[in-house]
Amino acid sequence: MKNKCIFLDRDGVINRDLAGYAYRLEDFEILPGVAEALWQLKQAGYLLVVVTNQSGIAQGIYTREQMQLCHDYMQEQMGDVMDAIYYAPHHPSVTESLTRKPDSLMFEKAIAKFDIDVRRSWMIGDKERDMIPAVKLGIASILIDTGTPQTKALHIVKDLPEAVRKILKPD
Ligand SMILES: [Mg+2]
Repeated sequence: MKNKCIFLDRDGVINRDLAGYAYRLEDFEILPGVAEALWQLKQAGYLLVVVTNQSGIAQGIYTREQMQLCHDYMQEQMGDVMDAIYYAPHHPSVTESLTRKPDSLMFEKAIAKFDIDVRRSWMIGDKERDMIPAVKLGIASILIDTGTPQTKALHIVKDLPEAVRKILKPD
């Protein structure tokens, strides 16, 4: 049997989104209830895969090493809950890439590597560009509402713990 997976945007979903970019450890704040909610998903048999745009790398705002320190910290704070972290370092002002959301290559890489069944998988994000690749690939999508006027998302919620309640106890 193929695997079921929760795809997760990072900024604004797992850690607090900042006006600039979250790349300093001291600014990297994991949101309340996130670790517990992710462990509930893991216990329900889901893989957890982060898919994050990190265009600050292409723009020279921070380095891959700085980002990696944040990811190490994130994993350490949450007991290595994530199965994989995919990031797109590109920015259209520097290089175009199909990995950068709303394109779907990060998702497709994970689907191939982990043998994921898209029909039993979900995407949780806080921007429409997180919903677009999920919808394209047939992955159910949940938007954490930040005032997006129009969305392709299946559900709209206030935070990750509410998204997880939806997934584990569908209406
Ligand atoms: Mg985000």
